[in-house]
Amino acid sequence: MTGAPAVAGSRPVPFDEAVTRYQPVIGLETHVELGTAAKMFCGCPTVFGAEPNSAVCPVCLGLPGSLPVINRAAIEYTITIGLALNCSIASWCRFARKNYFYPDMPKNFQISQYDEPLCTDGWLDVEVGGQTVRVGIERVHLEEDTGKSLHVGGATGRIHGADYSLVDYNRAGIPLVEVVTKPIPGTGALAPAVARAYVTELRDLLRSLGVSDVRMEQGSLRCDVNTSLAPAGAAEWGTRTETKNVNSLRSVERAVRSEIERQAAVLDAGARVIQETRHFHEDSGTTTSGRSKEEAQDYRYFPEPDLVPIAPARDWVEELRAALPETPAEHRLAVWARLGWSVLPDDRQERDKIEAEMAAIVNAGALDLIDATVAAGATPEQARKWWMGELARKANESGVEPAELPITVEQVARVAALEASGALNDKLARQVLDGVLAGEGSPDEVVAARGLAIVTDAGVLAVAVDDAIAASPDIAAKIRAGKTAAAGALVGAVMRATGGQADAGAVRELILRRCTSPGEPA
Ligand SMILES: [Zn+2]
Repeated sequence: MTGAPAVAGSRPVPFDEAVTRYQPVIGLETHVELGTAAKMFCGCPTVFGAEPNSAVCPVCLGLPGSLPVINRAAIEYTITIGLALNCSIASWCRFARKNYFYPDMPKNFQISQYDEPLCTDGWLDVEVGGQTVRVGIERVHLEEDTGKSLHVGGATGRIHGADYSLVDYNRAGIPLVEVVTKPIPGTGALAPAVARAYVTELRDLLRSLGVSDVRMEQGSLRCDVNTSLAPAGAAEWGTRTETKNVNSLRSVERAVRSEIERQAAVLDAGARVIQETRHFHEDSGTTTSGRSKEEAQDYRYFPEPDLVPIAPARDWVEELRAALPETPAEHRLAVWARLGWSVLPDDRQERDKIEAEMAAIVNAGALDLIDATVAAGATPEQARKWWMGELARKANESGVEPAELPITVEQVARVAALEASGALNDKLARQVLDGVLAGEGSPDEVVAARGLAIVTDAGVLAVAVDDAIAASPDIAAKIRAGKTAAAGALVGAVMRATGGQADAGAVRELILRRCTSPGEPA
Protein backbone atom coordinates (compact mmCIF):
# COMPACT_ATOMS: atom_id res chain seq x y z
CA MET A 1 0.00 0.00 0.00
CA THR A 2 1.15 3.50 -0.77
CA GLY A 3 -0.06 6.93 0.35
CA ALA A 4 -2.02 7.74 3.48
CA PRO A 5 -3.88 4.93 5.19
CA ALA A 6 -7.66 4.71 5.06
CA VAL A 7 -9.36 5.70 8.27
CA ALA A 8 -11.78 3.12 9.57
CA GLY A 9 -14.55 4.21 11.89
CA SER A 10 -14.41 7.94 11.20
CA ARG A 11 -17.85 9.55 11.36
CA PRO A 12 -19.63 10.00 8.02
CA VAL A 13 -19.96 13.62 6.86
CA PRO A 14 -23.66 14.69 6.64
CA PHE A 15 -24.77 14.40 3.01
CA ASP A 16 -25.71 18.06 2.46
CA GLU A 17 -22.31 19.15 3.71
CA ALA A 18 -20.40 16.45 1.80
CA VAL A 19 -21.82 17.55 -1.56
CA THR A 20 -20.89 21.19 -1.00
CA ARG A 21 -17.20 20.31 -0.60
CA TYR A 22 -16.90 17.23 -2.83
CA GLN A 23 -18.14 16.29 -6.30
CA PRO A 24 -19.43 12.75 -6.77
CA VAL A 25 -19.10 10.68 -9.94
CA ILE A 26 -21.37 7.66 -10.14
CA GLY A 27 -21.63 4.68 -12.47
CA LEU A 28 -23.99 1.72 -12.61
CA GLU A 29 -23.54 -1.87 -13.69
CA THR A 30 -26.86 -3.65 -14.02
CA HIS A 31 -27.26 -7.38 -14.55
CA VAL A 32 -30.50 -8.52 -16.16
CA GLU A 33 -31.58 -12.15 -16.41
CA LEU A 34 -33.20 -12.57 -19.81
CA GLY A 35 -36.64 -14.12 -19.99
CA THR A 36 -35.76 -16.63 -22.72
CA ALA A 37 -37.42 -20.05 -22.45
CA ALA A 38 -34.06 -21.87 -22.47
CA LYS A 39 -30.64 -21.19 -20.94
CA MET A 40 -27.80 -19.46 -22.79
CA PHE A 41 -25.85 -22.49 -24.03
CA CYS A 42 -28.16 -25.49 -23.44
CA GLY A 43 -31.84 -26.42 -23.62
CA CYS A 44 -32.57 -26.37 -19.86
CA PRO A 45 -35.60 -24.25 -18.86
CA THR A 46 -35.13 -20.91 -17.05
CA VAL A 47 -37.61 -21.20 -14.21
CA PHE A 48 -37.49 -19.31 -10.91
CA GLY A 49 -38.07 -21.17 -7.67
CA ALA A 50 -37.91 -24.74 -9.05
CA GLU A 51 -36.67 -27.70 -6.99
CA PRO A 52 -32.88 -27.17 -6.58
CA ASN A 53 -30.76 -28.79 -9.30
CA SER A 54 -33.81 -29.92 -11.28
CA ALA A 55 -33.16 -27.68 -14.31
CA VAL A 56 -29.62 -28.81 -15.16
CA CYS A 57 -27.79 -30.84 -17.81
CA PRO A 58 -24.14 -31.78 -18.62
CA VAL A 59 -23.58 -28.40 -20.37
CA CYS A 60 -24.70 -26.10 -17.55
CA LEU A 61 -23.12 -28.41 -14.96
CA GLY A 62 -19.83 -28.03 -16.84
CA LEU A 63 -19.27 -31.77 -17.22
CA PRO A 64 -16.20 -32.74 -19.26
CA GLY A 65 -16.89 -33.24 -22.96
CA SER A 66 -20.07 -31.17 -23.07
CA LEU A 67 -20.16 -28.31 -25.57
CA PRO A 68 -22.16 -25.05 -25.51
CA VAL A 69 -24.51 -23.92 -28.31
CA ILE A 70 -25.54 -20.24 -28.49
CA ASN A 71 -29.25 -19.48 -27.86
CA ARG A 72 -30.37 -17.27 -30.76
CA ALA A 73 -33.19 -15.72 -28.70
CA ALA A 74 -30.66 -14.42 -26.14
CA ILE A 75 -28.67 -12.71 -28.92
CA GLU A 76 -31.89 -11.22 -30.29
CA TYR A 77 -32.92 -9.89 -26.85
CA THR A 78 -29.47 -8.39 -26.26
CA ILE A 79 -29.44 -6.62 -29.63
CA THR A 80 -32.96 -5.33 -28.89
CA ILE A 81 -31.77 -3.94 -25.55
CA GLY A 82 -28.75 -2.33 -27.24
CA LEU A 83 -30.95 -0.70 -29.88
CA ALA A 84 -33.40 0.60 -27.26
CA LEU A 85 -30.39 2.13 -25.44
CA ASN A 86 -29.25 3.85 -28.65
CA CYS A 87 -26.10 1.68 -28.93
CA SER A 88 -24.08 0.62 -31.97
CA ILE A 89 -24.42 -3.11 -32.66
CA ALA A 90 -21.20 -4.99 -33.45
CA SER A 91 -21.12 -6.61 -36.89
CA TRP A 92 -18.77 -9.28 -35.51
CA CYS A 93 -17.86 -10.18 -31.96
CA ARG A 94 -16.82 -13.10 -29.78
CA PHE A 95 -17.50 -14.57 -26.40
CA ALA A 96 -14.61 -14.73 -23.96
CA ARG A 97 -13.68 -17.00 -21.07
CA LYS A 98 -13.49 -15.22 -17.73
CA ASN A 99 -11.42 -17.50 -15.51
CA TYR A 100 -12.02 -17.63 -11.78
CA PHE A 101 -12.86 -20.26 -9.22
CA TYR A 102 -16.09 -20.17 -7.32
CA PRO A 103 -18.17 -23.14 -6.11
CA ASP A 104 -21.36 -21.91 -7.81
CA MET A 105 -19.59 -21.86 -11.19
CA PRO A 106 -19.05 -25.48 -12.17
CA LYS A 107 -16.80 -24.93 -15.20
CA ASN A 108 -14.36 -22.74 -13.22
CA PHE A 109 -14.82 -20.14 -15.93
CA GLN A 110 -17.73 -18.00 -17.03
CA ILE A 111 -18.54 -17.47 -20.69
CA SER A 112 -18.81 -13.71 -20.98
CA GLN A 113 -17.79 -10.92 -23.32
CA TYR A 114 -14.65 -8.89 -22.75
CA ASP A 115 -13.16 -6.55 -25.34
CA GLU A 116 -15.76 -7.35 -28.02
CA PRO A 117 -19.20 -6.59 -26.53
CA LEU A 118 -22.30 -6.94 -28.69
CA CYS A 119 -23.51 -3.35 -28.10
CA THR A 120 -21.51 -0.18 -27.35
CA ASP A 121 -21.77 3.59 -26.90
CA GLY A 122 -25.43 4.43 -26.28
CA TRP A 123 -27.47 6.57 -23.89
CA LEU A 124 -30.62 6.72 -21.81
CA ASP A 125 -32.34 9.95 -20.72
CA VAL A 126 -33.72 10.11 -17.19
CA GLU A 127 -35.87 12.79 -15.54
CA VAL A 128 -34.81 14.05 -12.14
CA GLY A 129 -36.40 17.04 -10.41
CA GLY A 130 -37.82 18.43 -13.65
CA GLN A 131 -34.53 18.19 -15.56
CA THR A 132 -33.26 15.63 -18.04
CA VAL A 133 -29.95 13.87 -17.39
CA ARG A 134 -28.46 11.93 -20.30
CA VAL A 135 -26.72 8.82 -18.96
CA GLY A 136 -24.10 7.44 -21.35
CA ILE A 137 -24.08 3.68 -21.92
CA GLU A 138 -20.58 2.23 -22.22
CA ARG A 139 -21.56 -1.30 -23.26
CA VAL A 140 -24.22 -3.99 -23.21
CA HIS A 141 -22.81 -7.50 -23.20
CA LEU A 142 -24.06 -11.03 -22.82
CA GLU A 143 -22.84 -13.69 -20.40
CA GLU A 144 -24.11 -16.67 -18.45
CA ASP A 145 -25.35 -16.49 -14.88
CA THR A 146 -23.74 -18.54 -12.11
CA GLY A 147 -25.45 -20.95 -9.72
CA LYS A 148 -26.52 -19.95 -6.23
CA SER A 149 -24.87 -20.86 -2.91
CA LEU A 150 -26.89 -21.24 0.25
CA HIS A 151 -24.83 -20.98 3.45
CA VAL A 152 -26.51 -22.89 6.27
CA GLY A 153 -25.95 -22.09 9.94
CA GLY A 154 -24.34 -18.89 11.21
CA ALA A 155 -26.20 -15.66 11.85
CA THR A 156 -25.72 -13.70 8.66
CA GLY A 157 -26.44 -16.16 5.85
CA ARG A 158 -22.92 -15.37 4.62
CA ILE A 159 -20.20 -17.98 4.28
CA HIS A 160 -18.36 -16.84 7.42
CA GLY A 161 -19.64 -18.78 10.41
CA ALA A 162 -21.75 -21.16 8.30
CA ASP A 163 -21.77 -24.91 9.13
CA TYR A 164 -22.00 -26.00 5.52
CA SER A 165 -23.05 -24.72 2.09
CA LEU A 166 -25.43 -26.02 -0.56
CA VAL A 167 -25.24 -25.18 -4.25
CA ASP A 168 -28.18 -24.90 -6.66
CA TYR A 169 -27.18 -24.92 -10.35
CA ASN A 170 -30.64 -24.11 -11.73
CA ARG A 171 -29.51 -20.53 -12.32
CA ALA A 172 -26.17 -21.56 -13.88
CA GLY A 173 -26.25 -20.76 -17.58
CA ILE A 174 -29.29 -18.45 -17.58
CA PRO A 175 -28.55 -15.67 -20.08
CA LEU A 176 -27.47 -12.55 -18.30
CA VAL A 177 -27.07 -9.14 -19.90
CA GLU A 178 -24.82 -6.58 -18.28
CA VAL A 179 -25.55 -2.91 -18.97
CA VAL A 180 -22.62 -0.68 -17.98
CA THR A 181 -22.97 3.11 -17.88
CA LYS A 182 -20.20 5.55 -18.62
CA PRO A 183 -19.13 7.53 -15.56
CA ILE A 184 -21.82 10.11 -14.71
CA PRO A 185 -20.17 13.31 -13.42
CA GLY A 186 -21.71 16.68 -12.58
CA THR A 187 -24.87 15.58 -10.80
CA GLY A 188 -23.76 16.93 -7.39
CA ALA A 189 -26.41 16.59 -4.69
CA LEU A 190 -28.71 14.87 -7.21
CA ALA A 191 -26.33 11.89 -7.61
CA PRO A 192 -28.37 9.47 -5.42
CA ALA A 193 -31.63 10.47 -7.16
CA VAL A 194 -30.03 10.16 -10.61
CA ALA A 195 -28.81 6.64 -9.77
CA ARG A 196 -32.30 5.62 -8.70
CA ALA A 197 -33.99 7.30 -11.68
CA TYR A 198 -31.61 5.53 -14.08
CA VAL A 199 -32.29 2.05 -12.67
CA THR A 200 -36.04 2.79 -12.63
CA GLU A 201 -36.02 3.97 -16.25
CA LEU A 202 -33.86 1.01 -17.34
CA ARG A 203 -36.20 -1.40 -15.56
CA ASP A 204 -39.27 0.12 -17.22
CA LEU A 205 -37.54 0.08 -20.62
CA LEU A 206 -36.56 -3.60 -20.28
CA ARG A 207 -40.09 -4.43 -19.17
CA SER A 208 -41.57 -2.64 -22.19
CA LEU A 209 -39.24 -4.68 -24.46
CA GLY A 210 -40.53 -7.92 -22.92
CA VAL A 211 -36.99 -9.31 -22.54
CA SER A 212 -37.00 -9.86 -18.77
CA ASP A 213 -39.41 -9.84 -15.84
CA VAL A 214 -36.99 -7.34 -14.15
CA ARG A 215 -37.83 -8.30 -10.57
CA MET A 216 -35.21 -6.87 -8.24
CA GLU A 217 -36.61 -8.83 -5.29
CA GLN A 218 -36.14 -12.11 -7.20
CA GLY A 219 -32.73 -11.14 -8.50
CA SER A 220 -33.61 -10.96 -12.20
CA LEU A 221 -32.43 -7.32 -12.07
CA ARG A 222 -29.29 -6.76 -9.98
CA CYS A 223 -27.35 -3.60 -9.57
CA ASP A 224 -23.80 -2.64 -8.61
CA VAL A 225 -23.28 1.02 -7.81
CA ASN A 226 -19.93 2.74 -8.38
CA THR A 227 -19.24 5.93 -6.45
CA SER A 228 -16.20 8.19 -6.28
CA LEU A 229 -15.62 11.56 -4.70
CA ALA A 230 -13.14 14.33 -5.46
CA PRO A 231 -12.74 17.81 -3.92
CA ALA A 232 -15.03 20.38 -5.60
CA GLY A 233 -13.25 21.89 -8.58
CA ALA A 234 -10.61 19.13 -8.80
CA ALA A 235 -9.59 18.19 -12.34
CA GLU A 236 -9.35 14.47 -11.62
CA TRP A 237 -11.98 12.08 -10.35
CA GLY A 238 -11.51 10.18 -7.11
CA THR A 239 -11.02 6.45 -6.54
CA ARG A 240 -14.25 4.53 -6.98
CA THR A 241 -15.80 1.82 -4.87
CA GLU A 242 -18.27 -0.75 -6.18
CA THR A 243 -21.25 -1.44 -3.92
CA LYS A 244 -22.91 -4.86 -4.30
CA ASN A 245 -26.13 -6.35 -2.83
CA VAL A 246 -28.23 -3.39 -3.87
CA ASN A 247 -31.59 -5.10 -4.19
CA SER A 248 -34.20 -2.36 -4.47
CA LEU A 249 -34.61 1.03 -6.10
CA ARG A 250 -34.60 2.67 -2.69
CA SER A 251 -31.34 0.91 -1.84
CA VAL A 252 -29.69 2.23 -5.03
CA GLU A 253 -30.36 5.76 -3.80
CA ARG A 254 -29.27 5.02 -0.24
CA ALA A 255 -26.10 3.22 -1.32
CA VAL A 256 -24.86 6.26 -3.28
CA ARG A 257 -25.79 8.58 -0.44
CA SER A 258 -24.02 6.55 2.22
CA GLU A 259 -20.86 6.11 0.09
CA ILE A 260 -20.71 9.89 -0.46
CA GLU A 261 -20.98 10.45 3.32
CA ARG A 262 -18.36 7.77 4.09
CA GLN A 263 -15.84 8.77 1.42
CA ALA A 264 -16.12 12.45 2.43
CA ALA A 265 -15.06 11.46 5.96
CA VAL A 266 -12.11 9.44 4.60
CA LEU A 267 -10.97 12.36 2.44
CA ASP A 268 -11.55 14.89 5.26
CA ALA A 269 -9.18 12.81 7.42
CA GLY A 270 -6.50 13.17 4.76
CA ALA A 271 -6.68 9.47 3.94
CA ARG A 272 -7.35 7.84 0.58
CA VAL A 273 -10.36 5.86 -0.61
CA ILE A 274 -9.47 2.25 -1.35
CA GLN A 275 -10.66 0.73 -4.63
CA GLU A 276 -12.74 -2.18 -3.40
CA THR A 277 -16.02 -4.01 -3.48
CA ARG A 278 -18.40 -3.01 -0.69
CA HIS A 279 -21.59 -4.64 0.59
CA PHE A 280 -24.77 -2.66 1.15
CA HIS A 281 -26.82 -3.44 4.26
CA GLU A 282 -30.57 -2.82 4.02
CA ASP A 283 -31.02 -2.49 7.79
CA SER A 284 -28.42 0.23 8.45
CA GLY A 285 -28.38 1.81 4.98
CA THR A 286 -24.58 1.72 5.04
CA THR A 287 -21.83 -0.25 3.30
CA THR A 288 -19.01 -2.38 4.64
CA SER A 289 -15.77 -3.41 3.01
CA GLY A 290 -15.73 -6.57 0.91
CA ARG A 291 -12.85 -7.93 -1.15
CA SER A 292 -10.41 -5.67 -2.92
CA LYS A 293 -11.37 -5.37 -6.56
CA GLU A 294 -9.83 -7.75 -9.08
CA GLU A 295 -8.14 -6.25 -12.11
CA ALA A 296 -9.05 -7.48 -15.58
CA GLN A 297 -5.75 -9.37 -15.82
CA ASP A 298 -6.72 -11.51 -12.81
CA TYR A 299 -9.42 -13.11 -14.93
CA ARG A 300 -7.06 -14.23 -17.75
CA TYR A 301 -9.63 -13.51 -20.46
CA PHE A 302 -9.25 -15.23 -23.81
CA PRO A 303 -11.65 -15.84 -26.73
CA GLU A 304 -13.99 -18.78 -26.01
CA PRO A 305 -12.67 -21.62 -28.22
CA ASP A 306 -15.86 -23.71 -28.08
CA LEU A 307 -18.06 -21.07 -29.73
CA VAL A 308 -18.08 -19.51 -33.20
CA PRO A 309 -18.04 -15.69 -33.43
CA ILE A 310 -21.38 -13.85 -33.60
CA ALA A 311 -21.96 -11.84 -36.79
CA PRO A 312 -25.54 -10.45 -36.70
CA ALA A 313 -26.78 -9.73 -40.23
CA ARG A 314 -27.55 -6.02 -40.81
CA ASP A 315 -31.03 -6.90 -42.11
CA TRP A 316 -31.77 -8.73 -38.86
CA VAL A 317 -30.60 -5.78 -36.75
CA GLU A 318 -32.73 -3.38 -38.81
CA GLU A 319 -35.73 -5.70 -38.45
CA LEU A 320 -35.28 -5.64 -34.66
CA ARG A 321 -34.90 -1.85 -34.71
CA ALA A 322 -38.13 -1.45 -36.68
CA ALA A 323 -39.95 -3.70 -34.19
CA LEU A 324 -38.94 -1.67 -31.09
CA PRO A 325 -42.05 -0.73 -29.09
CA GLU A 326 -42.87 2.74 -27.74
CA THR A 327 -40.32 3.58 -25.01
CA PRO A 328 -41.58 4.31 -21.48
CA ALA A 329 -40.66 7.99 -22.02
CA GLU A 330 -42.67 8.13 -25.26
CA HIS A 331 -45.50 6.28 -23.56
CA ARG A 332 -45.59 8.78 -20.69
CA LEU A 333 -45.70 11.71 -23.14
CA ALA A 334 -48.61 10.10 -24.98
CA VAL A 335 -50.51 9.55 -21.73
CA TRP A 336 -49.86 13.13 -20.51
CA ALA A 337 -51.24 14.39 -23.83
CA ARG A 338 -54.39 12.28 -23.34
CA LEU A 339 -54.72 13.72 -19.81
CA GLY A 340 -54.51 17.25 -21.20
CA TRP A 341 -50.93 17.89 -20.05
CA SER A 342 -49.16 18.05 -23.43
CA VAL A 343 -48.37 21.72 -22.84
CA LEU A 344 -47.62 22.78 -19.28
CA PRO A 345 -48.54 26.27 -18.01
CA ASP A 346 -45.84 28.97 -18.06
CA ASP A 347 -46.59 29.85 -14.45
CA ARG A 348 -43.77 28.28 -12.43
CA GLN A 349 -45.89 27.27 -9.44
CA GLU A 350 -48.64 25.73 -11.59
CA ARG A 351 -46.04 23.83 -13.63
CA ASP A 352 -44.24 22.53 -10.52
CA LYS A 353 -47.56 21.34 -9.15
CA ILE A 354 -48.41 19.39 -12.30
CA GLU A 355 -44.88 17.94 -12.58
CA ALA A 356 -45.08 16.80 -8.96
CA GLU A 357 -48.41 15.12 -9.69
CA MET A 358 -46.96 13.47 -12.82
CA ALA A 359 -44.09 12.05 -10.76
CA ALA A 360 -46.51 10.87 -8.07
CA ILE A 361 -48.67 9.10 -10.68
CA VAL A 362 -45.66 7.31 -12.19
CA ASN A 363 -44.28 6.34 -8.77
CA ALA A 364 -47.67 5.04 -7.65
CA GLY A 365 -47.84 2.75 -10.68
CA ALA A 366 -51.11 4.46 -11.66
CA LEU A 367 -50.17 5.84 -15.10
CA ASP A 368 -51.77 3.13 -17.21
CA LEU A 369 -54.74 2.76 -14.85
CA ILE A 370 -55.58 6.46 -15.14
CA ASP A 371 -55.08 6.32 -18.89
CA ALA A 372 -57.40 3.29 -19.22
CA THR A 373 -60.03 4.84 -16.91
CA VAL A 374 -60.12 7.90 -19.15
CA ALA A 375 -60.43 5.61 -22.17
CA ALA A 376 -63.39 3.97 -20.36
CA GLY A 377 -65.19 7.31 -20.22
CA ALA A 378 -64.01 9.16 -17.09
CA THR A 379 -62.56 12.65 -17.27
CA PRO A 380 -58.82 12.96 -16.53
CA GLU A 381 -59.70 14.80 -13.27
CA GLN A 382 -62.03 12.00 -12.13
CA ALA A 383 -59.54 9.27 -13.04
CA ARG A 384 -56.73 11.05 -11.17
CA LYS A 385 -58.95 11.78 -8.18
CA TRP A 386 -59.94 8.14 -7.63
CA TRP A 387 -56.66 6.39 -8.50
CA MET A 388 -54.44 8.82 -6.59
CA GLY A 389 -56.88 9.21 -3.69
CA GLU A 390 -59.24 6.55 -2.37
CA LEU A 391 -57.91 3.65 -4.49
CA ALA A 392 -54.24 4.47 -3.75
CA ARG A 393 -55.14 4.43 -0.06
CA LYS A 394 -56.94 1.08 -0.38
CA ALA A 395 -53.98 -0.44 -2.26
CA ASN A 396 -51.60 0.86 0.38
CA GLU A 397 -53.74 -0.56 3.19
CA SER A 398 -53.82 -4.00 1.54
CA GLY A 399 -50.12 -3.87 0.62
CA VAL A 400 -50.79 -4.42 -3.10
CA GLU A 401 -50.16 -2.46 -6.30
CA PRO A 402 -53.17 -0.35 -7.41
CA ALA A 403 -53.42 -2.57 -10.50
CA GLU A 404 -53.95 -5.59 -8.24
CA LEU A 405 -57.09 -4.15 -6.60
CA PRO A 406 -60.22 -6.19 -7.45
CA ILE A 407 -61.82 -3.39 -9.48
CA THR A 408 -61.79 -2.70 -13.21
CA VAL A 409 -61.14 0.64 -14.89
CA GLU A 410 -64.67 0.41 -16.35
CA GLN A 411 -66.08 0.16 -12.82
CA VAL A 412 -64.07 3.20 -11.67
CA ALA A 413 -65.32 5.12 -14.72
CA ARG A 414 -68.91 4.09 -13.88
CA VAL A 415 -68.61 5.38 -10.29
CA ALA A 416 -67.22 8.65 -11.67
CA ALA A 417 -70.14 8.89 -14.11
CA LEU A 418 -72.69 8.26 -11.32
CA GLU A 419 -71.11 11.03 -9.27
CA ALA A 420 -70.99 13.43 -12.22
CA SER A 421 -74.69 12.82 -12.97
CA GLY A 422 -75.63 13.68 -9.38
CA ALA A 423 -76.82 10.13 -8.62
CA LEU A 424 -74.00 9.80 -6.05
CA ASN A 425 -72.15 12.34 -3.95
CA ASP A 426 -68.49 11.92 -3.00
CA LYS A 427 -69.26 10.11 0.24
CA LEU A 428 -71.66 7.67 -1.42
CA ALA A 429 -69.23 7.10 -4.31
CA ARG A 430 -66.61 6.00 -1.78
CA GLN A 431 -69.08 3.54 -0.27
CA VAL A 432 -69.84 2.16 -3.74
CA LEU A 433 -66.09 1.62 -4.32
CA ASP A 434 -65.91 -0.16 -0.97
CA GLY A 435 -68.69 -2.48 -2.08
CA VAL A 436 -67.09 -3.24 -5.44
CA LEU A 437 -63.74 -3.96 -3.74
CA ALA A 438 -65.53 -6.22 -1.25
CA GLY A 439 -66.84 -8.30 -4.14
CA GLU A 440 -70.47 -7.14 -3.92
CA GLY A 441 -70.76 -6.73 -7.69
CA SER A 442 -70.79 -3.86 -10.17
CA PRO A 443 -71.22 -0.23 -9.04
CA ASP A 444 -74.91 -0.29 -10.06
CA GLU A 445 -75.46 -3.55 -8.17
CA VAL A 446 -73.81 -2.07 -5.05
CA VAL A 447 -75.93 1.11 -5.29
CA ALA A 448 -79.10 -1.00 -5.50
CA ALA A 449 -78.14 -3.54 -2.82
CA ARG A 450 -76.90 -0.97 -0.29
CA GLY A 451 -79.53 1.64 -1.18
CA LEU A 452 -76.86 4.27 -1.80
CA ALA A 453 -78.59 6.50 -4.33
CA ILE A 454 -78.93 10.20 -3.64
CA VAL A 455 -82.34 11.20 -2.20
CA THR A 456 -83.96 13.09 -5.07
CA ASP A 457 -87.54 12.74 -3.86
CA ALA A 458 -88.63 16.41 -3.50
CA GLY A 459 -91.20 15.56 -0.83
CA VAL A 460 -88.68 13.74 1.37
CA LEU A 461 -86.15 16.57 1.07
CA ALA A 462 -88.78 19.26 1.75
CA VAL A 463 -89.83 17.53 4.97
CA ALA A 464 -86.20 17.21 6.11
CA VAL A 465 -85.52 20.87 5.29
CA ASP A 466 -88.66 22.10 7.08
CA ASP A 467 -87.77 19.95 10.11
CA ALA A 468 -84.27 21.46 10.22
CA ILE A 469 -85.64 25.02 9.96
CA ALA A 470 -88.22 24.36 12.66
CA ALA A 471 -85.56 22.86 14.96
CA SER A 472 -83.26 25.93 14.68
CA PRO A 473 -85.45 29.06 14.47
CA ASP A 474 -82.51 31.31 15.45
CA ILE A 475 -80.44 30.14 12.47
CA ALA A 476 -83.43 30.49 10.15
CA ALA A 477 -83.86 34.07 11.41
CA LYS A 478 -80.23 34.87 10.55
CA ILE A 479 -80.71 33.52 7.03
CA ARG A 480 -83.87 35.60 6.62
CA ALA A 481 -81.82 38.63 7.74
CA GLY A 482 -79.47 37.97 4.81
CA LYS A 483 -76.72 36.00 6.58
CA THR A 484 -76.81 33.14 4.06
CA ALA A 485 -73.51 31.70 5.36
CA ALA A 486 -75.48 30.47 8.39
CA ALA A 487 -77.24 27.96 6.07
CA GLY A 488 -74.27 25.59 6.51
CA ALA A 489 -75.51 24.40 9.89
CA LEU A 490 -78.93 23.54 8.46
CA VAL A 491 -77.36 21.75 5.45
CA GLY A 492 -75.44 19.60 7.95
CA ALA A 493 -78.67 18.77 9.79
CA VAL A 494 -80.44 17.74 6.57
CA MET A 495 -77.45 15.62 5.47
CA ARG A 496 -77.56 13.82 8.83
CA ALA A 497 -81.31 13.31 8.55
CA THR A 498 -80.90 11.72 5.09
CA GLY A 499 -77.95 9.55 6.13
CA GLY A 500 -75.60 11.60 3.93
CA GLN A 501 -77.60 10.61 0.86
CA ALA A 502 -78.57 14.07 -0.34
CA ASP A 503 -76.89 16.47 -2.72
CA ALA A 504 -75.50 19.17 -0.42
CA GLY A 505 -75.69 21.91 -3.08
CA ALA A 506 -79.33 21.20 -3.81
CA VAL A 507 -80.15 21.08 -0.06
CA ARG A 508 -78.54 24.48 0.47
CA GLU A 509 -80.54 26.05 -2.35
CA LEU A 510 -83.72 24.56 -0.96
CA ILE A 511 -83.00 25.94 2.55
CA LEU A 512 -82.35 29.44 1.20
CA ARG A 513 -85.53 29.30 -0.88
CA ARG A 514 -87.68 28.08 2.07
CA CYS A 515 -86.31 30.76 4.43
CA THR A 516 -86.78 33.65 2.04
CA SER A 517 -90.11 32.53 0.53
CA PRO A 518 -91.65 30.27 3.16
CA GLY A 519 -95.04 30.12 1.49
CA GLU A 520 -93.77 28.62 -1.75
CA PRO A 521 -93.91 24.91 -2.27
CA ALA A 522 -90.52 23.18 -2.34
ZN1 LIG B 1 -28.38 -27.16 -19.06
